[in-house]
Amino acid sequence: MTGIVDSFGRSINYFRISVTDRCNLRCIYCMPPGGVPLIPHSEILSYEEIRAVARAAAELGINRIRLTGGEPLVRAELPRLIEMLSQTEGIEELSLTTNGTFLKKSAPELKQAGLTRVNVSLDTIKPDRFRDITRLGELKDVLEGIEAARDAGLHPVKINVVIMRGVNDEETLDFARMTHKEEWHVRFIELMPFNGGVESVPSAELRQHIGSLGKLEPRAPVTGNGPATYYRLPGAKGTIGFISPLTEPSFCFRCNRMRLSPDGKLRPCLLAADEIDLKMPLRNNSPMVELERLILKAVASKPEHHHLRGDPDCTGASLANRRMSRIGG
Ligand code: SAM
Ligand code: SF4
Repeated sequence: MTGIVDSFGRSINYFRISVTDRCNLRCIYCMPPGGVPLIPHSEILSYEEIRAVARAAAELGINRIRLTGGEPLVRAELPRLIEMLSQTEGIEELSLTTNGTFLKKSAPELKQAGLTRVNVSLDTIKPDRFRDITRLGELKDVLEGIEAARDAGLHPVKINVVIMRGVNDEETLDFARMTHKEEWHVRFIELMPFNGGVESVPSAELRQHIGSLGKLEPRAPVTGNGPATYYRLPGAKGTIGFISPLTEPSFCFRCNRMRLSPDGKLRPCLLAADEIDLKMPLRNNSPMVELERLILKAVASKPEHHHLRGDPDCTGASLANRRMSRIGG
């Protein structure tokens, strides 16, 4: 077992690092149309500061890093950070979550810099609906980005889909069928009520609906040991995963991650407000042992589970100030 063991016996070996709160899209469930108040540039961790955190984390046994945002590919010179992190001793897997709009251009350079693989977020395969959901994007760019990532050897490409009732739920079977046609690893993520207004569809309901296409056979994870449970339709090239923060307690029992925000706050849980500041110690040139101590402290404070299920205080309104674009989804 690698990683740091938390108070509930979970092995924490995975850091999600949000490199920016900026994004070129405005997805309806993630950002308001005019965007969100931005963190000043001076408050955002430099690549050297991110590397210092990664080194301390790796020293403690963290061996997987995912870069996210905001949209990570809007940050200048991202391949430089990827190169720095991929050369960090102890980091075995370095991946990226992206909306895919800039992947076509950057996939070869990302691979060359040492990126292992990508997750691409895509909630519809209808061009008009894509414009409606993202408010600013073009579907074609993302589809070309997925191809480019595959051609560059960023395997396996996973496709993250958020199904929303009355918005894109009629495409559930179309996404499932894509796993037959292409080697798509589709993961349905339950919508978390950060931004109100749109309704989530429980994974169990999606699973039952997809069952109309054939028996879903349970599969081992495509890579790593993340929060998804995987299945395959008979004869399909790709897989179908479900990530169920709202309806399945295993989402928390299997949680292996910590999150670092663009301004250096280490968050033990996506859905809890607690965080530990690493920016100040970094800017005070604190030694690596101090960063390690703070990381261990944050892991020790990781809650057993979040309180979204059945907690009347956890409404969309109360979560609205904790947007995914800022925490790093
Ligand atoms: N911009 C990149 C992207 O869209 O992939 C990376 C950041 S985005 C915040 C990371 C993931 O969080 C995306 O897959 C997105 O669909 C998901 N996400 C954002 N808001 C969410 C919400 N309220 N509930 C569930 N997933 C959400
Ligand atoms: Fe941007 Fe990703 Fe949020 Fe969409 S989900 S607005 S692409 S950060």
